[in-house]
Amino acid sequence: MAKNIGPVCKLCRREGEKLYLKGERCFTPKCSFEKRNFAPGQHGKNAGRGGKGMGTGRESDFARQLRAKQKARRIYGVLERQFRRYYESALGHRGLTGLNLLHILESRLDNIVFKLGFATSRAQARALVSHGHFTVNGRRADVPSMLLQEGDEVSVRENSSKLTYFKDMGAVAEKRNSPSWLNRDVKKMSGAVVRLPERAEIEGTLNEQLIVEYYSRR
Ligand code: SF4
Repeated sequence: MAKNIGPVCKLCRREGEKLYLKGERCFTPKCSFEKRNFAPGQHGKNAGRGGKGMGTGRESDFARQLRAKQKARRIYGVLERQFRRYYESALGHRGLTGLNLLHILESRLDNIVFKLGFATSRAQARALVSHGHFTVNGRRADVPSMLLQEGDEVSVRENSSKLTYFKDMGAVAEKRNSPSWLNRDVKKMSGAVVRLPERAEIEGTLNEQLIVEYYSRR
């Protein structure tokens, strides 16, 4: 599985905002963005928040579109080639392309494991899925990019549920709400997709319209 291998916190500093890519650490004073709130690199401080021209009022349309696309890629941990494929798939479906794209991203197995509260970040969810700790509809599923549909059920595998991590995570998940488009059963360490999320139930700072504009002009 291809993945980003650079320092994750740099991505937040590049985007000029916290993307919450590291789970619990993001909510502590150890968060790099809290300590170094400027873009990475030699000219980061001069470039201002979010990199070249960000927040200076001189940003071009293209730069805004690019940043919107990069931000979404980073939040969901998707590489460019796959993200473009998602866009093309969204374009081929009926309805709003931007919302279709968000639905595809939200339907990924790693995202759903994260939203169910069985991992503290999407990156952790991706690792847990890759290591074969989950089933989908009773069958082992170890591909984080697997797209789920209404009615699909995700469960922690029986053997995995005996691991200390999942026992502890069950207690943590109890305290965290899961979205209403998922039906979670913490005792069984499982959850089902009830429906696709409404736009208001998806990360509010994403700008799918700018992403569509980015790909439309290329
Ligand atoms: Fe971003 Fe989390 Fe790193 Fe803070 S700790 S910079 S929010 S990934």
